[in-house]
Amino acid sequence: MKSFEAVTHYFNQAADQLELTDNMRTLLLTSKREVQVQIAVEMDNGELQTLIGYRVQHDNSRGPMKGGLRFHHEVDLDEVRSLASLMTWKTAVVNIPYGGAKGGVAVKVRGLSSRELERITRKFIDEIHDVIGPDTDIPAPDMGTNAEVMAWIMNQHNKYHGFNPGVVTGKPVEHYGIPGREEATGRGVGLLTIKTLSRLGRKPQNTRVAIQGFGNVGTHTAKFLHEAECKVVAISDVSGAYFRQGGINVGEALRYSNEHERSLAGFPDADKITNEQLLELDVELLIPAALGGVITAENAPRIRAPIIVEAANAPMRPEADDLLYQQGTVILPDILANAGGVTVSYFEWVQNRQYYQWSLDRVRQELDRVLSSAFEEVWSLSQEKKISLRTAAFIVGIGRVGRATVLGGIT
Ligand code: NAD
Repeated sequence: MKSFEAVTHYFNQAADQLELTDNMRTLLLTSKREVQVQIAVEMDNGELQTLIGYRVQHDNSRGPMKGGLRFHHEVDLDEVRSLASLMTWKTAVVNIPYGGAKGGVAVKVRGLSSRELERITRKFIDEIHDVIGPDTDIPAPDMGTNAEVMAWIMNQHNKYHGFNPGVVTGKPVEHYGIPGREEATGRGVGLLTIKTLSRLGRKPQNTRVAIQGFGNVGTHTAKFLHEAECKVVAISDVSGAYFRQGGINVGEALRYSNEHERSLAGFPDADKITNEQLLELDVELLIPAALGGVITAENAPRIRAPIIVEAANAPMRPEADDLLYQQGTVILPDILANAGGVTVSYFEWVQNRQYYQWSLDRVRQELDRVLSSAFEEVWSLSQEKKISLRTAAFIVGIGRVGRATVLGGIT
């Protein structure tokens, strides 16, 4: 099943409960606009490279479209389309006034020099500057992009359209960014994980955690859960996975990765296992925080964790989701679990429009408020209707988008 088909599958499970007509389903699933562009860049060695970039704008019935930019060699239109649609349901679940979009460039980031990355970014913005903007579509970081890339995007867009920091979020704090944006997704994952554990009557101290991915989301999730007294027994990145029965010293791992170009390769004091083995560990909590599609019908029967929190976008194939749900695994879905990032992006955009700097305390407080209220709504609905947390989250999201679409007038 391809990525967009997978989101459609989840959408339809909720749409069945909402008794949506086929025509309404088609309307809500179809992207508003899909842009594919050529990015021709000169590399440092003088060679010409032609890359493909995408921006998919899925829905704007509730506000300007919002979604990250992914730089990764596996990016394609189907994946970007599916992630754009997920953003629509995600912004609606946490009830912030945005629609959904996503973008990406198919490029291998590892090995690129900073100048090459900058040239690719600026060239991409040259191609799409007309379709993005603070009132239309606001990009943000995702896999392979970071705050520095966001600063280049702002600068390049402003050359065409004048000064406006609200065109992109996830910028460096000292360059119109907001304190707490970098930690936001991982912190949100952490906050919601603790809430889930508490609802299930579990204590953090008795919870062993395996986290796949040690980038922006994985590191901040690990840090939050470690501080909340969960026992993080396994972490991983593209170099492999690292397991320690007695618990990984997360502070040490962070220091190690920072000192080794953000890689865990060679991390001492832990057994080296594979990323596939990490998923199947005997733990209470599994957090995929790297790539999509890592939990499949093939490995799902071997997954032992009774709780899965989807920090990554779409880490689970629908067949695996059905299987695990039937065997009683509690799955906190991506459109709620990792919504902390877009929520703080929203605060950054508000801050940019007000020219008023928020404090870290205020950001954390408001993040907690927004995520807690979304969690309560989704959890109660799933209990009341005896449905999965994923279907409940989709019902909340689709309900809001559907109502906004009808209220705004369709034809
Ligand atoms: P990142 O680029 O900062 O980190 C990605 C991590 O995954 C790295 O540690 C990398 O080594 C690892 N990785 C890459 N390929 C891997 C593989 N084959 N096996 C195991 N690990 C691998 O990216 P990020 O921003 O942390 O994003 C991670 C996930 O979270 C993505 O699915 C992204 O869409 C999602 N997400 C990110 C944000 C955000 O604010 N950054 C918000 C919502 C969702």
